[in-house]
This record gives sequence, C-alpha cells and structure tokens, in this order.
Amino acid sequence: MAHQFPYDADMTPTDLRLNISEINRRIRAAECAADRPPGAVSLLAVSKKKSTELIRWAHQAGLSDFGENYAQEMAEKAAQLADLGLTWHFIGPIQSNKTRLIAEFSDWVHSVDRLKIAQRLSDQRPSEKGPLKVLLQVKTSDEASKSGVQPDALKTLIDAVETLPNLQLKGLMTIPASSAEPAAQRVPFRHLRTIQQSLIGGNPELAILSMGMSSDLEAAIAEGSNLVRVGTDIFGARYN
Ligand SMILES: *Cc1c(COP(=O)(O)O)cnc(C)c1O
Repeated sequence: MAHQFPYDADMTPTDLRLNISEINRRIRAAECAADRPPGAVSLLAVSKKKSTELIRWAHQAGLSDFGENYAQEMAEKAAQLADLGLTWHFIGPIQSNKTRLIAEFSDWVHSVDRLKIAQRLSDQRPSEKGPLKVLLQVKTSDEASKSGVQPDALKTLIDAVETLPNLQLKGLMTIPASSAEPAAQRVPFRHLRTIQQSLIGGNPELAILSMGMSSDLEAAIAEGSNLVRVGTDIFGARYN
C-alpha cells in the first residue's frame, strides 16, 4: 500500500480491546445520563490512516462499521478486507473526481453537501450493490469545516436527493468547530437535532444523526446523536 501508518506499531490487540471497551463504557454512560435506552447509539470506528491489521483486530474485538476520509485509501482497505464483510462509511470531503470510488466501495456516505456530488454518486453506484445510504452534512457553526450545506439550503437539497434512484437518504451529519467546554460542545449538536426535528414530520427517513467524535461524544449523545464517529480514542493518535 502507498500509505504509511507510522503510529500503528504502538498498538497491540490488547490495547485495542481496552480502548474499545472504554469507548463502549462511555457511550453506555452517556446514554444512561440522557435517559436513553442502552444500544440507542451506534459506534463507527474511524480507521483513516490506520492499517488493515488494526482494522482486523478491531473486527475481532466486535466492531463491524469503519469510517474513512480518503477515497483511494478506503477502496484499497475494502478490497484487502473483503473477506470480513465490513460496512464502510465514507466521512471525508468529496471531490468530484473521487465519486466513482466512493460509489463503488462504500455502504454509507456521511458527507454529501451538494447536489452535483449526490447526482454523481447515484449515477455511479453499481446496481448490484443496492442503494448507497446517504447522510447530508450540515454546517452548524461558522468556523467549522468548509464542508456542509447551510441549514437554510437543506430542505432543497433533501428534496433533490430524494429523487435520485440509487441513493437512500438516512439522516444528517455535522462536524462542529472544536471546543473543550462541554456546554459549548452541545450547542451545534442541539442545532442539528432541532433541524432534524423540524424536518422529520415530512421526511421520516432522516432518523440518523451522525454526530460526536473522541472528544465530544458525551455532548453529542446528550443532544440526541445515534451514531458517533470515533478514531483517536480507539486506534490512537494519527499523523496528519
Ligand atoms: C477523523 C474524523 C473523525 C474521528 O475523529 P477523532 O477525534 O479521531 O475521534 C470523526 N469524523 C470525521 C468526519 C473525521 O474526519
């Protein structure tokens, strides 16, 4: 593989198991604190810049859903790990020239934020794989990543995506500006939840809220997340 994964040597299968049980403990505690039933929140293991060996260990430790940010890296890993039957989620910014790889190798895409990309994904989805499950990425704080549809343009995008034959709309995703302060962390998550609640009457398929990462999953679960995306606290630090 072309990619270098320099921190992986620090990790053993035992470390990984301990990290995964600690994340599961944090998720259960946050569900409980929010009076939500156990199992309300699913865990997506973000494996970008981590080796296929670590992904195999994580699978042995019980994980089945993996998130990647780079189309080529995801395609290579999905091919090398095809024997495991994993579920792949593309969560990174999407360039037009990468939509074919994403349409072919992922099961879910969390980062659709414009119609042109949605159209290409639908056009390029191999029919034998069934519809691609899609979350629309919404901008919930000004300084956050450049990606994400503005909340006031979301409904138009939803209506357009609903017409695409090979996409299945499943919910919303956000990446807020980072904050260390738990009360501040909750604000953009609450914003996304409010947006979802305002739309779900007319669009009941928008049930998934993909929000929360290593440093803010408790805040996200308190505000209604049902899918957290965790990289660092499972696999360790990454070079960027
Ligand atoms: C890298 C990444 C994550 C995981 O972040 P950690 O802080 O390592 O848990 C989650 N979501 C997206 C979109 C990412 O790019």
